Amino acid sequence: MPLLDEHARAAALDALPDAIVLVDGQARIVPGNRRAEELFAAEPGDEGPRAQTVETNRRTVSAFHATSSPAHAGDAARKIVLVDPNDGTDLVFEVLEAPLPAPGHDRAIDVLVLRDVTDLEATERELETQLDRSIVAERHARSERERLRTFIDHAAVPIVVSDRHGGIELMNREAERLLTPRPGTTRAAPHLHDIDANHAALTGCVADLLQHARTRGEARLSLVDPDEARELTALAVSTKIFDERGDTVAVVSVLHDLTHEIANRELARTTGELTMRNTQLEEEHTALARASRLKSEFLATMSHELRTPIHAVLGYNSLLRNGLFGELSDRQGDALDRMRGAAEHLLTLVNDVLDLSRVEAGKLSLNPTDIDWASFVEGLSESIRPLAASKSLAYTAEVDAGVPSIWTDEMRLRQVLLNLLTNAVKFTDAGSVELRVGQAPGSERVRIDVTDTGIGIEEAHLATIFDEFTQVDQTSTREHGGAGLGLPISRRLIRVMGGSLTVRSTPGEGSTFRVELPPSPPTGRERPASSPADHVGASA
Ligand code: ADP
Repeated sequence: MPLLDEHARAAALDALPDAIVLVDGQARIVPGNRRAEELFAAEPGDEGPRAQTVETNRRTVSAFHATSSPAHAGDAARKIVLVDPNDGTDLVFEVLEAPLPAPGHDRAIDVLVLRDVTDLEATERELETQLDRSIVAERHARSERERLRTFIDHAAVPIVVSDRHGGIELMNREAERLLTPRPGTTRAAPHLHDIDANHAALTGCVADLLQHARTRGEARLSLVDPDEARELTALAVSTKIFDERGDTVAVVSVLHDLTHEIANRELARTTGELTMRNTQLEEEHTALARASRLKSEFLATMSHELRTPIHAVLGYNSLLRNGLFGELSDRQGDALDRMRGAAEHLLTLVNDVLDLSRVEAGKLSLNPTDIDWASFVEGLSESIRPLAASKSLAYTAEVDAGVPSIWTDEMRLRQVLLNLLTNAVKFTDAGSVELRVGQAPGSERVRIDVTDTGIGIEEAHLATIFDEFTQVDQTSTREHGGAGLGLPISRRLIRVMGGSLTVRSTPGEGSTFRVELPPSPPTGRERPASSPADHVGASA
């Protein structure tokens, strides 16, 4: 007995969702199960749209079958589009063809199995569309990401994007320099430690922000620039990025280098302090200049008041000494002489101070006359010769031939030269003191040199001896008297006369003080036109 009878086989075929169609040798379509009947069989006498659809379906299958050849048998399924006779919608079928052995027929009967893949097809299409869409979206996202990368790469400050767990997702070149090792770096590279420390500092502050509800955080980080091994202070400003549901998706951190700012602030502070100090100094300088001018004016106007009592002391001293008030013992006479010496010294000092003050206050007026060098030098020599002789020094005074007479203040010039000559004698223990008047080469200025073979002056002191109250030997036990005013006064007087006073000296060998004067002073009384301009001096 067969396993299944004819009825059961037909029922099994009808239960299939696929349509089974037989195509005979005359290309007639014979539905092989219920689904095939639904598609290809019409009720007898039906001529409505259903019958037409069935007819179209038959033709489609015939045409399809006609184009297939035995060679296609067993091929992968081909597709065919039919119309659902019930609702007119398109149905897509995959068709499998197989020939049935039909003994007695000259052409074999073919079996066509039509599998409805309409839904599958639609799903496939849907999937394809979605795939296309996601490709486009992916491409868009990629280009957005590229754009963002280019943008942050061009930012001059380090920018880091971290994910919602704090892991670094994206960073620009500046950040890479600080936070990632250079390509090819070995684990032993010295800057690796700095990079690790930088990394830990940044991720630490991002993690801190993620733990809290706030949207933005700022932290000062001490980092190291691994390229320059330079410490830098950075301000990390981190901001949370939220999705549409309000969940944190990323944290963007921007690092601002504060090193320059700190340095600039420091510089600004120092500049400010300097400006303040400068202003203070200027004020002090103005106050000092004012005080100095007041002092000079005071002293210059007080000259009479200062000198009068000294003159009185000297006058009474001389009356006493001359016995006007009675006979004096020898001891009393000695005491009076010492008193006179002290008073005269005081008068010289007061005169010096007053001269200096007058020059400083601009109150010194010159009294120029024509200088007759021969008699002028002789006058000086008369005062100096006895002094030099007392120290057994040779003294010579010479006026070169052809030295022109000049128009200047003779009394002031004598004062200066007497000071230079007495200094020369004072600071010379052996040898000579020489005074020489000549003409400066290639100039109409007259040159007067006072040269000695004395102790000389150290290089370091040459610049200061022209300052007021300066003496090279400042000790209380110094050998030579004086107040350190002679040279400063001399230089100022010579300058008022339009000339210069300079010195050259070798310690242990001697010094030369040189005065140079113009034919006439820059200001003051004009030289009368008739005055003899050239006076030839002679040796003194
Ligand atoms: P002082 O009245 O003390 O001599 P000066 O102003 O004339 O004052 O001289 C200042 C200082 O310069 C002197 O104390 C001395 O140290 C130095 N000096 C001046 N002239 C000479 C010189 N011819 N040789 C060596 N030292 C000199």
